[in-house]
Amino acid sequence: MKTKVGIIGGGPSGLMLSQLLDLQGIDNIVLERQSREYVLGRIRAGVLEHGFAKLMRVAKCGDRMDAEGELHDGFFIAENGVKRRIDLAGHTGGNSVVVYGQTELTRDLYEAREKMGGNVIHNIDDVEFFDLKSDAPYLTYKRGDEINRIDCDFIIGADGFHGPSRKAIPKDVLREYEKVYPFGWLGVMSQTKPVSPELIYSKSNRGFALCSMRSQVLSRYYIQVPLTDTVDDWSDDAFWAELKLRLPTAEAAALETGPSIEKSIAPLRSFVAEPMRYGNLFLAGDAAHIVPPTGAKGLNSAASDIYYLYHGMLAHYKNGDDTGLEQYSEKALARVWKAQRFSWWMTSLLHTFPDNNAFDDKMQKTDMEYLFSSEAALTSLAENYVGLPF
Ligand SMILES: Cc1cc2nc3c(=O)[nH]c(=O)nc-3n(C[C@H](O)[C@H](O)[C@H](O)COP(=O)(O)OP(=O)(O)OC[C@H]3O[C@@H](n4cnc5c(N)ncnc54)[C@H](O)[C@@H]3O)c2cc1C
Repeated sequence: MKTKVGIIGGGPSGLMLSQLLDLQGIDNIVLERQSREYVLGRIRAGVLEHGFAKLMRVAKCGDRMDAEGELHDGFFIAENGVKRRIDLAGHTGGNSVVVYGQTELTRDLYEAREKMGGNVIHNIDDVEFFDLKSDAPYLTYKRGDEINRIDCDFIIGADGFHGPSRKAIPKDVLREYEKVYPFGWLGVMSQTKPVSPELIYSKSNRGFALCSMRSQVLSRYYIQVPLTDTVDDWSDDAFWAELKLRLPTAEAAALETGPSIEKSIAPLRSFVAEPMRYGNLFLAGDAAHIVPPTGAKGLNSAASDIYYLYHGMLAHYKNGDDTGLEQYSEKALARVWKAQRFSWWMTSLLHTFPDNNAFDDKMQKTDMEYLFSSEAALTSLAENYVGLPF
């Protein structure tokens, strides 16, 4: 097979790029290891920066998001029971975020690809990369017993943190930066009314908790847990009881509980791989970087990569201008590192760190006091939360 752009990974990054390129008549193929049902069964992110929402509209996939997504122009930070609101719109000249589940967004992208007759091949395995430094790279993959070959101009590694693309960059070229946090998030999804119309990030002496949602009938709650905990350690009752202890009194009293429809533990990690380009292989999204979920930057960082890649490809195919592609890694990483800084800072501000000493505790407390005493600090938080420009 021959195509212009071979995309590995049918998650949000791969599908979004495929859709944007196809709308411009740039031929591409997406290779996805899992079935479509499996990809759509994954419960992940749910808060979209306004820039991501804009990209969904450019990709002609924004109708359902605009109809069903919720615009949030603020959120709360609670500290040991005292709740204070961050006015996102007020601090950013009217910007906001959209609460719309990654599952729904991925479904919209799949449906759009299907409508346009996009080539998304599921259930493949054993992707291998060849001649990445040449003008004629190709890849091979296995489907059933068959080995297939795709010749292309460019290969996009949008295959998530565990995919093979990043590993195709030689070890003496790739630099990896990582921070592993000494806790994870236990998340529960329940068909209950969210306890608050806006998200609550709650810092308490018992550890961090987050009240989030996917809609007015679907709540998503998280509590910080030690890395040694497993899902089996937490019955629904135990989860709700612990969550209540970490929330302000009014929210604890009002919390509507119910059976979990999903329960999982995610360890928290910051990770960046540099460079994001090797020859004609370009990394995008989780394949190149991971953030802790505090501040909701994971999916949103993928969106800016796709924006830069899309415009680079467009300039290449429409005007023969390779500047965008040549600058891709540098430009994408500049924004990725800012999202990393913000996620690391919000994680540091709100969690209980088991190894903190008295000095560290004072710094954390002072960081919070400073935040709420300074319009400049609140503006910085707000502009990062709604998303830096790309
Ligand atoms: C458990 C979990 C919870 C999360 N929660 C949040 C959250 O609350 N908020 C937030 O902002 N972010 C969250 N994230 C991060 C967010 O979901 C990701 O940043 C986002 O999915 C990145 O999209 P992506 O397309 O780059 O990668 P992915 O969504 O990981 O997509 C990569 C795709 O590549 C496929 N693939 C892998 N290997 C191969 C292969 N060998 N061949 C072909 N295909 C392959 C995978 O099956 C997958 O479909 C979470 C992530 C995880 C894992």
